[in-house]
Amino acid sequence: MDFKNFSLNISQTKVNRFVDELSAGKFMATVCKKCGKNYYPPLADCSNCMQSDMEWKQISGEGTLVTFTKIHVPPEHFAVRQPLMPFSSIQFEPCPIGLLEVEGGLKIMGWIPKGDVKKIKVGMKMKASPFTLPDGKVTIILEPI
Ligand SMILES: [Zn+2]
Repeated sequence: MDFKNFSLNISQTKVNRFVDELSAGKFMATVCKKCGKNYYPPLADCSNCMQSDMEWKQISGEGTLVTFTKIHVPPEHFAVRQPLMPFSSIQFEPCPIGLLEVEGGLKIMGWIPKGDVKKIKVGMKMKASPFTLPDGKVTIILEPI
């Protein structure tokens, strides 16, 4: 799977492996071999020491919800009901999106597709998982553990 199959439109990247691994259920980070800094989403170049000698490592998708919000006009692929409709032709329900802190302080962003928004609380334990949209593109969802 190519990066073009991720839910966000990214035309060029040096980290195509991210989407391949995500499609297989793995969240991957990169680690700078020189200074040890961890990156999620993975980066091919270290912004700390300016080196490009990185290695990949799998990280857990389980963590603690740091924050969340509701998006009233979500990007095209976050609108699950009609993922391919232009924004202006459909009424969207607010779409909760959250930031999950996982091992090493890394943060995974994903949307929260199920349940009542009032039940979402900062500090709750959640798990990030890949989710394939009706058009075949992959995105990330967060669900309570
Ligand atoms: Zn570095």
